[in-house]
Amino acid sequence: MQRHCQHCGAVLATLTFDGKTREQCERCGAVAWRNPVPVGMALIEHEGRLVLIRRMTDPLAGYWAPPAGYVETGESVPEAVVREAREETGLEIALDGLFDVYSRADVNVLIVVYRAHAVGGVLAASDDAIDAGLYAPGAWPQEPSPTSGAAMDEWFHGVILDIATRWRPTC
Ligand SMILES: [Zn+2]
Repeated sequence: MQRHCQHCGAVLATLTFDGKTREQCERCGAVAWRNPVPVGMALIEHEGRLVLIRRMTDPLAGYWAPPAGYVETGESVPEAVVREAREETGLEIALDGLFDVYSRADVNVLIVVYRAHAVGGVLAASDDAIDAGLYAPGAWPQEPSPTSGAAMDEWFHGVILDIATRWRPTC
């Protein structure tokens, strides 16, 4: 499918320069940039355990993971993390600093992960979560590697495993 320049409406051409393939408008020269979309994730600590939700939607529908979601225009990454936690877990949270940032060249999202703790609300799955629970380090649900072959699924599964390996309660 041909895409059109969002500035002048002309058809975009696929050009390769600096070793990268990009879409550029032949009429006005504007480049149609494609950038990874930021996702915010919350590692919500509660009494030595971590809040996980069971995902309703892909990637990794049916898998357990910390609550996460896309950052929307009009909010900062921390604001998105607080909002997603509220929507998926019912908890009001306060952030305790950055845990890590995950990205990979062939996946079109990047995940910004914050430590957090609950300051209100009641843990209950909602929105894009089928279930919600508290899990201690080393006691996360055992889940098989995804078999879809999609880079996103494989990478996201690796991110969850990395967090499961590294996350420890702060108190
Ligand atoms: Zn143009």
